Amino acid sequence: MTEITTFLPSYDPCPEYNAQLLRQSVPLMMKHRVSAHPINYAIWYEYVAGNNRKLNAAIDDLINQHIPLDDKISLNLYKTYICNASVESFEKINFDLQALIDKTTSTVQNSGNQVASFSENVQVDSLKLEEIDDLSQVKTVLSGIVAETQQLLEISNTLKSRLYEANQELASLRDELTKVREMATTDALTGLINRRAFDNVLHELVANSIDSAHCLLILDLDHFKKVNDTFGHLIGDKVLRFTAGLIKNHVAEHHLAARYGGEEMAVVMPNTHLEEALAIAEQIRIALASNQLKQKDNGRSIGKVTVSIGATSLKIDDSPESFIARADNALYTAKKSGRNKVVYKDN
Ligand code: GH3
Ligand code: MG
Ligand code: MG
Repeated sequence: MTEITTFLPSYDPCPEYNAQLLRQSVPLMMKHRVSAHPINYAIWYEYVAGNNRKLNAAIDDLINQHIPLDDKISLNLYKTYICNASVESFEKINFDLQALIDKTTSTVQNSGNQVASFSENVQVDSLKLEEIDDLSQVKTVLSGIVAETQQLLEISNTLKSRLYEANQELASLRDELTKVREMATTDALTGLINRRAFDNVLHELVANSIDSAHCLLILDLDHFKKVNDTFGHLIGDKVLRFTAGLIKNHVAEHHLAARYGGEEMAVVMPNTHLEEALAIAEQIRIALASNQLKQKDNGRSIGKVTVSIGATSLKIDDSPESFIARADNALYTAKKSGRNKVVYKDN
């Protein structure tokens, strides 16, 4: 059975954060005279959240050019920048690919027909040669064969260049597909894999695990709301990006670091023993805590940012949900017991 894949953008579940975005987006929607329906709200939610850089650039461009944001333009923005990894993109690539296959098939078929008629002509010519007794007639038949050979060469060259073009088109479609796939699986702010990709990876891991050690970390920044409240959301975003980079630098190449939710991240660690997973978690915790973060533009200190980490390893009867729940539970204990800690739970 084919699994139906939907391409829904994933949003931060934190009510305070969303309320703040609502407060920011409604006045902007009124200012730009767009009605507050769900599509427009999604656009302006993303605009004020500021993670979707391409969308923001497109809106800023429209505003700078004094182009009214009517429903048609808004729908286009929604399709292009919010459902950018949408079914439509895949369908377009699919359609282009089918057109390319059709074009190439018909070129090959045409060339095949022409070659077949050439070989028939040559056969006729060779029969004529057998019947010839006058040498001057030989010359005529031979020049006919030369002309047909020339024609065959042209067919072969056309085929070669069409196949070359098809190959180029195929390569660019492949690049497009890679880009779309990346957009569909990457979190725009941190560059980590997004929640949807994380869910897929975890499902695969749990479904295919055969008694090897797999671990999971869930990381949550401590008192992150205070960072936002004190320094603003943009600095908060930079801290998130910094943390994501730091996590990436510490995990192994085959580990998958994800943005799990607002200021929560997760690392899926396939084929990794618990000791190694805990050592990496501890290194991440220490590395973050020992950084005195500073604002780039004015040198003002953001102070110490710390992270609490819940860790667990996969059990034989785990579902993805129970695997996550155990890591979450460990994270909860880390928070309860003072934060800036790594806690492991195995039941
Ligand atoms: P705790 O130590 O208990 O985790 O405290 P906390 O303040 O980190 O947790 P809380 O859940 O109260 O707040 C999380 C904050 O994370 C609130 C929200 O504004 C912020 N946040 C979530 N997503 C983003 C984001 O994409 N960018 C920024 N700047 N902040 C975000
Ligand atoms: Mg949190
Ligand atoms: Mg937090």
